[in-house]
Amino acid sequence: MALLIVVGAIATFQILSPDVVNSDQENDLTQDSLASEVDPQIYLYGINVTGLNIVEGTVNKNQTLASILSPFNVPYQIIDEIAKKSREVFDVRWIAANKKFTILTPSDSSQAQFFIYEPNPAEYVVFNLDSLEIYKAEKPAEFRTKQVGGIIEQDQSLYMVMDEQEVSIQIINKFADLFGWSVDFQSLQKGDTYKVVYQEKVVDGQVVGVSGIQLAYFEHKGKPYHAIPFEQNGELNFFDQDGNSLKKAFLRDPLEYTRISSRYNLKRFHPVQKRYKPHLGTDYAARTGTEIRTVGDGTVVEARYTSANGNYVKIKHNGTYTTQYLHMSKIGKGIKPGVRVQQGQVIGYVGSTGLATGPHLCFRFWKNGKQEDWLKEEIPPSEPISEANRVAFESKKMESLSLLAEIKTSGSENLAVKNSISAPIKSE
Ligand SMILES: [Zn+2]
Repeated sequence: MALLIVVGAIATFQILSPDVVNSDQENDLTQDSLASEVDPQIYLYGINVTGLNIVEGTVNKNQTLASILSPFNVPYQIIDEIAKKSREVFDVRWIAANKKFTILTPSDSSQAQFFIYEPNPAEYVVFNLDSLEIYKAEKPAEFRTKQVGGIIEQDQSLYMVMDEQEVSIQIINKFADLFGWSVDFQSLQKGDTYKVVYQEKVVDGQVVGVSGIQLAYFEHKGKPYHAIPFEQNGELNFFDQDGNSLKKAFLRDPLEYTRISSRYNLKRFHPVQKRYKPHLGTDYAARTGTEIRTVGDGTVVEARYTSANGNYVKIKHNGTYTTQYLHMSKIGKGIKPGVRVQQGQVIGYVGSTGLATGPHLCFRFWKNGKQEDWLKEEIPPSEPISEANRVAFESKKMESLSLLAEIKTSGSENLAVKNSISAPIKSE
């Protein structure tokens, strides 16, 4: 098999013969024995690369499709046509530095036949330089079940301990939302324990995404809280050991905050106006720019600026509940009156516009037209496990409890990660 010799300006090439690619397990075989003993039909990006020379590269700064392909004798006319034709699939103007590409050239030719570009670790775009066919495809992914457990040490937050164990931020947020109504994650104690099971999507050994949580457990001040998944009425929800739903009509917190700086208080000294005035909201101190989420599904009824409220958004959830979010640095994109929003959707960013001394979210909550103390509100839970589903739930629960029992939370090392390969499941 002839190796392609590249003379040109592109510095970061690795020249490979097809036999070398994808043959990790055959490292101890020589090229000669490969040629005689191994099936020569080898696929790369779904393309049979028998008889093709493979050049892998990384896009350099300021490189374009034309400058990448010109050393491979691709006529400018073809490059131009490909650039025009590809827009619907992948606009070649988005080709970016440090991204991986592969060029396939027939061994008996000097003109490249395929250009394959990887816009991200999970996908690739194939440009057939002969037929001018262009398509995008996903690399084969593996789904890995991850079981992680840990113990909160002195002055540690849930985020810190989970982050140490490389749990992604999406899973940390989902975990906090799951238990948001039962556990105050702002007042964790040394010895509090967590366990979580979720799936990671892995491509080429790299984690490219996570699915929803499959099972979770938290122990706070010695009290256990379970989140057991169960599908009821066609909807997958999480339930505690007694079969009560963990899902509430609202999220506990409209943002990730550092502390509650002012509670609902009918007699509060206003820090800006310097007089006693009821504070009918809950103030969450957080950094400017922190995402603010709607606590429930609803319709935006107001999204504007006033001198007192600054930039704010008001959302009507149903005939009973309305919420309002004040002092935003910026209202979320597309958030305007009449727009439907879903629980957890970002509707704006923390700021200090209007009458505010520092960056915080003032969160207001109405029930039947009257402003109430959000932190004292008992939000009705969703339906518990029905009588008809009891037996099935008990069996799911036993299975869940024995899986949780297997997850270690070794104290000093504070690390217990177990990986296993499994079939993909639906994310929640
Ligand atoms: Zn306030």
